[in-house]
Amino acid sequence: MSFQFHTGFSYAQEADAADPLSGFRERFYFPQKNGKPVIYFCGNSLGLQPKNVESAIQTELNSWREEAVGGYFGGKNPWLYYQDYAGKPLSKILGCKETEVTVMNALTVNLHLLMLSFYRPTAERFKIIMEAGAFPSDQYAVETLVRHFGFDPADAIVEIAPQPGKKILTTEQIVSRIYAEGDELAMVLFGGMNYYTGQFFNIQAITAAAHSVNAIAGFDLAHVAGNLSVSLHEWEVDFAAWCSYKYLNAGPGAVSGVFIHEKHAADAQTPRLGGWWGNDEKTRFKMEKGFIPKTNASGWNLSTAQVFNTVCLKASLELFEEAGMDRLRAKSVHLTAYLEYLIQQLPGLSCEIITPADPEARGAQLSLFFKERGKEIHDKMISNGIVVDYREPGVIRVAPAPMYCSFADVFRFYEILRDHF
Ligand SMILES: *Cc1c(COP(=O)(O)O)cnc(C)c1O
Repeated sequence: MSFQFHTGFSYAQEADAADPLSGFRERFYFPQKNGKPVIYFCGNSLGLQPKNVESAIQTELNSWREEAVGGYFGGKNPWLYYQDYAGKPLSKILGCKETEVTVMNALTVNLHLLMLSFYRPTAERFKIIMEAGAFPSDQYAVETLVRHFGFDPADAIVEIAPQPGKKILTTEQIVSRIYAEGDELAMVLFGGMNYYTGQFFNIQAITAAAHSVNAIAGFDLAHVAGNLSVSLHEWEVDFAAWCSYKYLNAGPGAVSGVFIHEKHAADAQTPRLGGWWGNDEKTRFKMEKGFIPKTNASGWNLSTAQVFNTVCLKASLELFEEAGMDRLRAKSVHLTAYLEYLIQQLPGLSCEIITPADPEARGAQLSLFFKERGKEIHDKMISNGIVVDYREPGVIRVAPAPMYCSFADVFRFYEILRDHF
């Protein structure tokens, strides 16, 4: 799609007036700076607080106060099924069946749990492909996983780096590396989107390539969930995990989400580490010997539902249900293209946008690479009421989340940069 952008404020005003999602902004709290709401472009790190979470927490506090242990079966939202309340909205956001998704634990914990199910190395087939410069937690998880199985990370981990002088990977590069590793490849563990460059990878092509050499395809969707539309079921992704505090706006420490394709989850023989919450509900409370896994994603649940790190996600997902991923994504493509256009009108800023220009290969985020003074420019943005973040080396990440950011925000961002930088 091509847009007819110009540098007048009227473009932003007209786009906001035509935006069917403009009202959602009022349903979030914005931090204030110098008596004004900030321009919040950091939803890729921590989403804003939806105004409905306070009463949602209060509801569970009331159940606990009034029902105590009875809250598991009674109260407004019986806690026994608390994880299930996120299932339907998450299945729409991740493009999968409700039975393929569940919430539990935190992201890195879930990556470990899922990799322990799906990484089954042998002396011949033991390699894991990941992107060079993956999020540190993912690097540590894969490094310690292969050590746990007695392998040397130098042999077992294959990192794919951009070609010299390039900042982003090509799909051909990733796919040809998968073919090259062939029979030695046990698993691909890729970020769906690279946190630093903002590049969205071709999950479908990577999965198909991994399957063609009989390897597993797993993804960390921390920067994807609630940002872009994906079809995990149809693409036959084996497993995925994500956190809920970034684009999903569920607050710090929020419960993580996982996807396990039904071709694995429905098979009780698929290895999974057990706990009573993943056991068949019919026998869970019989307290008998012998783990009988649920034959869906919640067969990976271990512990009693953690109500207070799930309640904010439950509330936030109501907004996603109303807004719809299709409309969010359509607005996001427009909003990010507008941001890109306006930054290009500021040659004095002397930065390179390293995020792909192709809207299909990016989400809300643009990563601005500064050869010098990146941190200084970042600090100046912060003191001017613009919340963005800085990642070494040299990158300021700017992410207008479509749920609560407006075209006027993007214009104000441009105006501040134009007048003060
Ligand atoms: C944010 C993020 C994490 C964080 O993991 P936690 O276990 O929630 O601390 C991990 N991986 C990626 C790719 C991320 O973007």
